[in-house]
Amino acid sequence: MKYVVIYGDGPRKEVMIKIAKLMHKKPVLVMIGRSGLKVDETLSFEEVYDSKKATINLDKCNGCEECLKACQKGAISKDLKINWNLCEGCPACYYSCPMDAIDFRVVKSGEIRVYVSEGIPVVEYDYAPWINRYVFVRHVRDIAKRLANDENTWIIEEGWHPMPWAFNIRIDGYNDPNANLVLGKNDQVLSFNEIEKVVETLEVIGQ
Ligand code: SF4
Ligand code: SF4
Repeated sequence: MKYVVIYGDGPRKEVMIKIAKLMHKKPVLVMIGRSGLKVDETLSFEEVYDSKKATINLDKCNGCEECLKACQKGAISKDLKINWNLCEGCPACYYSCPMDAIDFRVVKSGEIRVYVSEGIPVVEYDYAPWINRYVFVRHVRDIAKRLANDENTWIIEEGWHPMPWAFNIRIDGYNDPNANLVLGKNDQVLSFNEIEKVVETLEVIGQ
């Protein structure tokens, strides 16, 4: 069975969902950030933990603000709250603290849900702003490969990588690095007609 993987977490995800719906009769796997799609059946749910972040134990803290001065990332505020979006888990605050009040914890940095929505298998992911999203997305892609279980799986990808500012849809084959088709770029919005052309092209390529 040949799957088509639709992957996208950028500003055009609605377009990606439309493509998925147009391709409803094909075996389609949609991969998308928070989609808002109706979940008919959850197939799996995975929480991703990997980033170490500093925390302050206020019961031990004497308010000396040494940590605040030590932090090069501006992650600690005057009221001694740590902004995990800025904290990189380095040990500077830890070593500066005279009260042994700082600790590190591995925090939840994302989740990946696989579900069925109106007959379409969907891999939906959500990740915290501090996570290395390239590593996270690789993990999501691995799930897609496993689900598709076919080396010739085609991917329709909203191409933020390596150019996050540009919009394009790339069609790519895991086994064939030359088999891609770029359909739009520079923030161009595809019309429905254009989307239908994409689908027709896929039907030709996918045979
Ligand atoms: S771990 Fe590093 S980046 Fe995070 S709050 Fe402490 S000093 Fe700042
Ligand atoms: S260095 Fe330690 S004791 Fe001082 S404010 Fe920071 S957490 Fe509190």
